[in-house]
Amino acid sequence: MKKPLLFAFLLAVAQSTPAHAKIAVFACEPEWGALVQELAGDKVTIDVATSALQDVHQIEAKPSLIAKMRRADLVVCTGADLEVGWLPQLIRQSGNGRVGTGLGSFRAADQVVTLDKPQQLDRASGDLHPQGNPHLQMDPRRVLTVANALAARLIKLDPANATVYRQRMVDFNGRWSAAIKRWEAKAVPLKGRKVVVQHISWVYLFTWLGMEQIGALEPRPGVPPTSAHLSSLVDVTKSSNTLAIVRAAYQDPKASLWLSGRTGVPAVALPLSVGGDAQAKDLFGLFDSTIDKLLAAAK
Ligand SMILES: [Zn+2]
Repeated sequence: MKKPLLFAFLLAVAQSTPAHAKIAVFACEPEWGALVQELAGDKVTIDVATSALQDVHQIEAKPSLIAKMRRADLVVCTGADLEVGWLPQLIRQSGNGRVGTGLGSFRAADQVVTLDKPQQLDRASGDLHPQGNPHLQMDPRRVLTVANALAARLIKLDPANATVYRQRMVDFNGRWSAAIKRWEAKAVPLKGRKVVVQHISWVYLFTWLGMEQIGALEPRPGVPPTSAHLSSLVDVTKSSNTLAIVRAAYQDPKASLWLSGRTGVPAVALPLSVGGDAQAKDLFGLFDSTIDKLLAAAK
């Protein structure tokens, strides 16, 4: 009798395994992969679709990404149409019905108010961001709002580990709120400073820190500059006591360096996401690095 009983027991364990399998998360960008890591630890597996050195507006829906999408229980992305050129296609091609809508679909931009939502759409002139500016990861207060919503979603998807998610959220909230205070104190010298950007990736950061964007190398998101635009930008940059010409780590530095050469204003590359530079190893390092680099330009 012993052997059949043992067999029955093992069979029961094997059959119960799927219910206790880890939640498989597909994160579109490294910042959301890092946030899931903070909130879920080893209760989930995480596939991050892109790196900080890629332009997430334009990603190819490669077979390797489709395979990752196929096994996902939860897709965590920015939303606000940032991934509109590749994510819907990935989900469709994966045939994964768990992540198209509902519990398996999470968008950070849906949890917060986005900035710069255009009143009128003018696609012919290249409005890349009709749902408002999607680069909200650079406001740590919005990141905290997203974190709360994401923790609630993990609890719904995986109620067996609800206590773990709750504890980790409380822990993250404590560390993150303290860090926000530290960053705000440190960034006081940046208040009121003017910056020129390559792409409008920094609206949330500048709004948070009280900085002012006075120009962009891309006159409209996704549209390359004309020579008339560039020459007026040289004048504005020169005459405004501009702090820096800011670009993301993934961007070609050519345009920034050109403007820097014409104006004497330093060109600064900021990480924009986790992994964008050596210091941006996690979400905390992302903001440490960003503020340190802006402060270095202010000296
Ligand atoms: Zn953008």
